Amino acid sequence: MLAAISQLAEKVFLLYRQIDEQTAALQAATGLQCPSGCGQCCENPDVEATPLEVLPLALELFRRGEALMWLERLEESGNSICVFYRPDPVIKGNGRCSMYSWRPTICRLFGFATVKNKQGQLELAACIRHKQIMPEVVCQTQEAIANGFLAPNFSDFSITIAAIDPYLGRARMSINQAVAMAIKRVGLMFQLAESADTETGEGVQG
Ligand code: SF4
Repeated sequence: MLAAISQLAEKVFLLYRQIDEQTAALQAATGLQCPSGCGQCCENPDVEATPLEVLPLALELFRRGEALMWLERLEESGNSICVFYRPDPVIKGNGRCSMYSWRPTICRLFGFATVKNKQGQLELAACIRHKQIMPEVVCQTQEAIANGFLAPNFSDFSITIAAIDPYLGRARMSINQAVAMAIKRVGLMFQLAESADTETGEGVQG
């Protein structure tokens, strides 16, 4: 049971690697970058994820012994912004992700991925901040994509995530709800594994 959860998390990590490689290639080819320290996309309360995408994050919280503490915070958070965001106390709009290596796909793709427009052509779903501070770079990136540059695509990754696990990878919800659900799923797997050990006598001392 726990092995199955770890295998799912492994597949999600492989997907993260693909996303990071594709966004790095786009950044290198076009110069599209986030302004240093910007955390505006994390300040949006509408960030969504599937529980599958945050399984690695949930497992990491268990590994640190912090899962229950975070579960309480997540359940209290309602529809507020992501609980893992740490706003900069001095510069408005700046901040950092306290779980950066474990962040889900939307947080990796935002500002660097394509969607299909009404004509069925791929175009950059550009970040408002990028458009404000580097409009020429955004235009050049749109041109490169129109000319066939293969940028990461939101729907391709959504389909891949749903294919990894149709139950955990399809339900899209607020990031706080998704992490809470992933923690509960991992916790349940730990409980089942412990009861199985007790039944087979493996958990009994002496
Ligand atoms: S997981 Fe990290 S990057 Fe994603 S919204 Fe939360 S703080 Fe921001």
